[in-house]
Amino acid sequence: MKSSARVVVIGGGVVGCSVLYHLAKMGWSDVVLIERQELTSGSSWHAAGGLYTVTRPNAVAAVQRYTFNSYAELERESGQSCGFHLTGGLNLCRTREEMLSNLVMQSAVRRLGIECEFISLSEAKDKAPILDTAPLYAALWEEEGGHVDPASATQAFAGAARKLGAVIYRHDPVIETNPLPGGRWQVVTRSGTIECDTLVNAAGLWGREVAALAGITLPLMPVEHQYLVTEPVPEIAAMAHELPQINDNEINVYARQEGKGLLIGAYETPCRHWAEHGTPPDFGHELLPDDLSHLEWNFAKAAEVMPCLATAGVKRVISGPMIFSPDLGPLMGPHPALSNYYCANGVMTGFNQGAGIGKLLAEWIIAGEPSFDISCWDVARFGDWASRDYVKATTAYFYEHRSDRAYPGQEYGAGRPLRTPPIFDRLKAANAVFGASYGLEHPLWFAPKGMQAKDTLSFARPNWFAPVMDECRRVREAAGLYEFTGMAKFMVEGEGAEGWLNHVLANRVPAKVGRMALSPMLSASGRLAGDFTVSRLGEESFLLLGSDPMQLAYERRFRADPPPSGVSLHNASDDLAGLHLAGPAARDVLSRLAETDLSPAAFPFLSVRRMRVAGVADVIVLRVSYTGEQGFELYCAPAHQPVLFDALMREGQSLGLGLVGTRSLMMLRLEKGFPAWGLELTPDYSPFEAGLDRFVALAKPDFVGREAALAAKERGAREVFCTFTVDADKADAWGDEAIWRDGEVVGYVTSGGYGAHTQASIALGYVRAGAAEPGPGFSVEILGEKRAAELQTQPLYDPAGERMRA
Ligand SMILES: Cc1cc2nc3c(=O)[nH]c(=O)nc-3n(C[C@H](O)[C@H](O)[C@H](O)COP(=O)(O)OP(=O)(O)OC[C@H]3O[C@@H](n4cnc5c(N)ncnc54)[C@H](O)[C@@H]3O)c2cc1C
Repeated sequence: MKSSARVVVIGGGVVGCSVLYHLAKMGWSDVVLIERQELTSGSSWHAAGGLYTVTRPNAVAAVQRYTFNSYAELERESGQSCGFHLTGGLNLCRTREEMLSNLVMQSAVRRLGIECEFISLSEAKDKAPILDTAPLYAALWEEEGGHVDPASATQAFAGAARKLGAVIYRHDPVIETNPLPGGRWQVVTRSGTIECDTLVNAAGLWGREVAALAGITLPLMPVEHQYLVTEPVPEIAAMAHELPQINDNEINVYARQEGKGLLIGAYETPCRHWAEHGTPPDFGHELLPDDLSHLEWNFAKAAEVMPCLATAGVKRVISGPMIFSPDLGPLMGPHPALSNYYCANGVMTGFNQGAGIGKLLAEWIIAGEPSFDISCWDVARFGDWASRDYVKATTAYFYEHRSDRAYPGQEYGAGRPLRTPPIFDRLKAANAVFGASYGLEHPLWFAPKGMQAKDTLSFARPNWFAPVMDECRRVREAAGLYEFTGMAKFMVEGEGAEGWLNHVLANRVPAKVGRMALSPMLSASGRLAGDFTVSRLGEESFLLLGSDPMQLAYERRFRADPPPSGVSLHNASDDLAGLHLAGPAARDVLSRLAETDLSPAAFPFLSVRRMRVAGVADVIVLRVSYTGEQGFELYCAPAHQPVLFDALMREGQSLGLGLVGTRSLMMLRLEKGFPAWGLELTPDYSPFEAGLDRFVALAKPDFVGREAALAAKERGAREVFCTFTVDADKADAWGDEAIWRDGEVVGYVTSGGYGAHTQASIALGYVRAGAAEPGPGFSVEILGEKRAAELQTQPLYDPAGERMRA
């Protein structure tokens, strides 16, 4: 065995081999993969190999498309067939609702140029003669559907990597991974030791065990999954072309041709976990006992549209384990607790996504960031709150609902509540409907008396639309109180804090104690990497507030560029509970309780102070606004939140204060055109494209991403952040809809909703720079209909910002 390598990848399944291949392809040939047995000794050898590209969100569709398109090149480079079959794919819709879901996806993937179209049921039958189309409502055809042979595809990645100089060691389990000084790693196997700069955990079914070797826990749990292959089916044998990949998502079934028979599998209920407490070390090229009775319901339903199933003989059954994360998305990227330790774990569809994952991870290792935003799969999205019970509950739920439609604003209840704010019971008693972010509950809206506190799911305006509009009006006309504990919070203190913050953030930190500034954080390539509210609490004491699910990603970023000695950086997210008071009466409410002069002259917009409120000392109060109204964020020790809350509600009653939830916040900010992290603000954009020019202090001599930001500014924006009003009817845009102009897709929606005050359906989004002309002439594709839209040049509500500064 070599004594050192630039990168060591642990695990020779499809994912590890793809990572190795992409590293070598990008020029890092001093890379090694270590496999415990033969390649494909985990899930990879028994996969069904099905491929499709029409999916959501778009980042995932982009991964799948890259993967789909890479097989031909991989075959050429490796000289090894992947058993790639280009068959096209059919999404069956048994109901109008499913058709709507497909319309939403169709519009979303236009951004990537993915071709898909609704075809008539007779055309569907021509493509797939095994179908009885009577139970069907509609069918979506996608060009980029097919399948590969899993073992061959994995070998092809390995073969192509070897040709580029990568080395693969087989039959040699990794038994230790030890951090070395300077961030390097020592990898110990049964037969030797190798040192490397970077380690990749791609150990698939053993991802947890390999993680434990480095002292970390990954939220993963394996489940059993089955498919069967039938004896030859006469309709298939008689076909001149190959059967397309068939997805019958309403019954969680997928099917494709195998030989002259049918391969059919299902994500059945109830989900069966496997090896909950650890994957057996000696498990390898084996299957689990099959149990077709478990799939009875799914297959009986499938036979309604594929009647041949009722008579086809079963040739073989495959029952194997695969390993999932709590949301079924991979755990990718640098682990936030370790240096130079990358994860490529929990990959549910390695053949659909493997090449894309390999490419993005290789970019992350080599360039420090992936070429497009893949935060939805970042390993840092789960904290240590993702307990085994949580992982068990969520993996079961998402397995059983693997192919369900995703509705606007949909929240999932599995494994919750897990983390709750101190006033949770009070909010619950007030009929809050909760959502969760980074495992923490927060009210989405409050059901009025007589209404069930529960979301209905709908592509049109759902049951919560009217109450949320009432909450918006309350904030515009009087005042609303938001529970606001979720924010990511960092304290930066000590001599040199200002200098360090000015280095890692793009804006200047506030010059004066008691002032705040908004600041993006950039990556080395000048793209957005974060967005903060920076409060100067003392000469060398700062509080940073950012988006809730980003806290570990931020920690990771700060660790890469650590503060100098003498400056302490502390993740205070759990140390402070928050409340957010907003509305024209907000100051009056707070003034009744605060022992500080809150008048605009004494406490103007973008001020911050520690003050005593309702007897509670040291409440950090920020004068900000995300609603467009006067706003005050209050942060205190969690134990004090109930006292503050009760006092505010009591004193505010006569001034019209009421409880409001985050859905109203997200609607109100649309009227102001305020972007949100994760929606409008993502690593796909430069701060200039996102309209954050005024928060980037290019005059500062040194900050991370400055040179690249200067170059980006020089180049000009590729896409422009815009606000549209939309001539919507019963359904508003909510994200990913295509924006059209002159018969062409010129952009896409990042978020949408309705402005209660402006009485306008609003969409925020990005439009190609040359096409972003103010005024009418655009349309937004909502549920298959192109709705006229007008590009606005200024915020729809209070464009001068007088109300929030008042
Ligand atoms: C029945 C079934 C059907 C499926 N159908 C599809 C499908 O149609 N399409 C699709 O895309 N996906 C499908 N999948 C999923 C697919 O199989 C997985 O997503 C994929 O195989 C995951 O690959 P991986 O490389 O992450 O992990 P694995 O395949 O589990 O590979 C991990 C490798 O790491 C090695 N390893 C572990 N520990 C060590 C160690 N300590 N030292 C060295 N090596 C180690 C293992 O031996 C193994 O070879 C299916 C899965 C199942 C079970």
